[in-house]
Amino acid sequence: MSGNGIVTGRAKGRVTLRIRSIEPYTSEFTAGQIGVIADIAEQYGSGAAHVTPRQTIEVPHIGIDELPVIERLLAGHGLSAGSTGQYLRNVAACSMWCLYNVSPMRGAAQKLNSLLSEKTLPGKTNISLSGCDFSCVRSRTSDIGVIARALIVKTEKPCKQCSLCVKEPLGCQADAITLTREGVHIDRRKCVRCGFCSGICRPGTIAVKAREFDIFVGGNGGVKPREALLHCTVPSEEDALELIGKILDRYSSLAEKGERIGDLIERAGMGWLED
Ligand code: SF4
Ligand code: SF4
Ligand code: SF4
Repeated sequence: MSGNGIVTGRAKGRVTLRIRSIEPYTSEFTAGQIGVIADIAEQYGSGAAHVTPRQTIEVPHIGIDELPVIERLLAGHGLSAGSTGQYLRNVAACSMWCLYNVSPMRGAAQKLNSLLSEKTLPGKTNISLSGCDFSCVRSRTSDIGVIARALIVKTEKPCKQCSLCVKEPLGCQADAITLTREGVHIDRRKCVRCGFCSGICRPGTIAVKAREFDIFVGGNGGVKPREALLHCTVPSEEDALELIGKILDRYSSLAEKGERIGDLIERAGMGWLED
């Protein structure tokens, strides 16, 4: 094995293997793949597996001598060890089945993982793609984060006064909607462009006019946690992917070894992102 995906274990001669799905590159595992990982954990590890925040699975306590046979097993089932060290970490995305997806991000994560999984970078780099403002995959504390947005409009279709868009549990979480006898009013200053209201408005009084993507940079967790900064908003997923590629290239050419995107912003400002 290349070393990508192997983490030093607690016991001598043993390692932890970080496993991802690569056919296709995705943040999901099939039931069959989970079975293979369970077998590896039983046969070669401690019998346990650990699910990581980056949507990979770690199998601890693997004997170093067993790695070649495990590598063949993984490859035969669309799996691979990876996502450690200075390699780009697994690009995490929301579940495509989530009710609230403004724009499902699974396909974008797949594309980025396929293109960039073997890319080495100056420092640890996480990319997280959220389908709505809830940001379940922590886009605001990732080196690069994307949050999909929906621009909503009031249409000509009459409001039925059902109040679903203002009442708990499905009503606007940002208190941006008020309902009067005359109809619904949306406060644009409060609206966070989550798009929920359009999903629950059955008559179509509120609808999505366009989708867009906020790009955040420089966030991270760890011992020096940082909230990412909003860099820009782009109108399409393709634009978001192209921009992420450019940010990574520029980061690679400017950062010192070990420096994360947030460190580079702290040292050099945001100017290097602007071209
Ligand atoms: S961020 Fe939004 S779309 Fe993604 S999983 Fe959370 S609630 Fe669902
Ligand atoms: S899109 Fe705006 S108005 Fe609609 S639920 Fe989200 S925050 Fe509220
Ligand atoms: S805008 Fe739609 S969801 Fe809101 S009260 Fe009117 S019909 Fe119901």
